[in-house]
Amino acid sequence: MKTGLRVKMNEDKSITITPKCLQNNGKSFIGATGELWPCCWLYTDREHMEDWALRNDCDIEELSLKKYTILEVQKSNLMQKFYKSFDTKTCRNNCSTDSWKNKHNTKRGDLTTVSE
Ligand code: SF4
Repeated sequence: MKTGLRVKMNEDKSITITPKCLQNNGKSFIGATGELWPCCWLYTDREHMEDWALRNDCDIEELSLKKYTILEVQKSNLMQKFYKSFDTKTCRNNCSTDSWKNKHNTKRGDLTTVSE
């Protein structure tokens, strides 16, 4: 596991986030609506990403695969800024220190069995 990033969150709090999307086996996610997302959790909670984009003066349309190639989305202003931020409730819930201790967290594809 790559080490965590100390991230300054919007509410003036700091929190350690170890982004699963930046791990060696991290996966981007193509949503049914035709956008490339950093992960499936943000696609599900898209309003959190839309709020982040507004707060950070980014255009959510930069994720659109109808307008841009995968490489262009990955190199977009939005993605470059986001990968230095992770200031979303979704990221706090899924990639803060506590989230890594959740053995039921299987969405990144690592864990196939859970023993209680
Ligand atoms: S929730 Fe945030 S930090 Fe975690 S994998 Fe998704 S984009 Fe990356």
